[in-house]
Formats: sequence, structure tokens, C-alpha cells
Amino acid sequence: MSSPAPALRYKRILLKVSGEVLMGEQGFGIDPNTLEAVAKDIAEVVSHGVELCLVIGGGNIFRGVSLAGKGMERSSADYMGMLATVMNALALQGALEKEGVFTRVQSAIPMDAVCEPYIRRRAMRHLEKGRVVIFAAGLGAPYFTTDTPAALRSAEMGCEALFKGTSVDGVYTADPKKDPKAVRYEQLSYHDVLAQDLRVMDASAIALMRDNEIPIVVFSIRERGNFLKVLKGQGVFTTIA
Ligand code: UDP
Repeated sequence: MSSPAPALRYKRILLKVSGEVLMGEQGFGIDPNTLEAVAKDIAEVVSHGVELCLVIGGGNIFRGVSLAGKGMERSSADYMGMLATVMNALALQGALEKEGVFTRVQSAIPMDAVCEPYIRRRAMRHLEKGRVVIFAAGLGAPYFTTDTPAALRSAEMGCEALFKGTSVDGVYTADPKKDPKAVRYEQLSYHDVLAQDLRVMDASAIALMRDNEIPIVVFSIRERGNFLKVLKGQGVFTTIA
């Protein structure tokens, strides 16, 4: 007799996808095949009854710090970065709908003609109805990246874990793309990440997760089927708790 399939570890989670993931092998923008693959993975998880919040970055289109570094006023550059996250949110919404997943985009910067404004109780209701809620425009405030809004929304929405989908399969002692001797951590504490300045996420996001005791799971969203696998506790990932 075959053993029963492993149960999913969480009922409600937030997935943060960095914008970079969406560009696939191209250097900029959104690669349609990658977008479709990510949407399929998300749809697979939703079909298992997981209540899912999404926060998507904007680094594939625009990062505030890059232009601020070249002389542009930081706040304006950051607002452009936030708008980039709205574009990604709409792209992901479209791709998820193609997979038959019901979604709502809520933006921290009200944009009535494009999506809903962020209203916590309304977002909660969407989740209860099985809709994926995509939080766009970060916090609506400059001087942050999308890590902190991902942490804040996961606390606000009562998520049991924050999943960070990147192009690397966890947290390493050094950059595995540059250092062949880099070793992946299985488990880290919030303190380890902050004290060793491991740059998994912004320190403000890590501190928020620590104070609210929400674990962070770092995994690669580039491999097909990996999101569900990691939710079952299988495959390769790093947990910060
Ligand atoms: N951003 C911001 N406030 C926020 C969220 C994002 O100012 O609350 C801006 C910031 O300029 C950031 C850009 O939006 O660089 C894109 O987000 P991020 O760098 O997090 O994208 P990712 O690296 O995840 O693709």
C-alpha cells in the first residue's frame, strides 16, 4: 500500500515573488513563459485549498535606488518602483486568471480605474472566498523595498508563514553564483540573519517577522512544481524561525 501524500504545512500564507524572477533569462521586463510557469505553480498550490496572499517586487522593471544613485530624487524614484510593482501585479493577475484562479489586486496607492485600494477587511474576505489577493505598490511609501510590505501584509492577514520565492534555493553562506564553496543553511534564526547581515530580506522585514513569530521560508520559484513541494516540507529550502 502506498503511503499517504504529505499534508501541507500551512493553511494561509503569503508568497513574495521578486520582480527579477519574472524576467526569466532576459535582462529586463516580463518573460511570458516564466510568468506562465510561476502562475501554474501558484494555481497548483491554490487548488490544494491554501489561502494565498501575493506580494510582487518590481526589480525587473525599476528599482528606486538605481536611479537615485544616478542623481534622481530618491522619493520620486521609489514611487516609480512602486508603480512597477503594480504592472507586475496586473501581469500576474492576468496569468493566474488564465489558470482559472480568482484574484484581486489591491494597491497601497489608490488607483481606482486599475484595481482595488488596500482595505484589510476586504482582503480578508477575498481570502475566505478562495481568491488570491495580490498586494501592489508596496507600502505606498518610499525608502522601502517590497520585503517590508510582504512582512507587514503577512502579519496583518494572519498568515502562518512568509514564503520568499527567489532564483536561489535558499540562504547560503556566500553567493552560490560566485562562490562554489558556498553552503546552504537548512535553518536559521531571525537573530542569525540580522547579526550576520545575511541579506535575505531587509532588516525591517526580518524584525517584523521575528516580533510576530512568523517563519520565513526561502526557496527557488524557478523550478516547476517546487512551491507545492516546499509547502509539503519536501525539496530544498531554508527556514528562518
Ligand atoms: N518600493 C518602495 N516602497 C515600497 C515598496 C517598493 O519605495 O513599499 C520601490 C523601491 O524603489 C523598490 C521598488 O519599489 O526598489 C521595487 O521593489 P523591490 O526592489 O522590492 O523589487 P524586487 O527586488 O523584489 O524585484
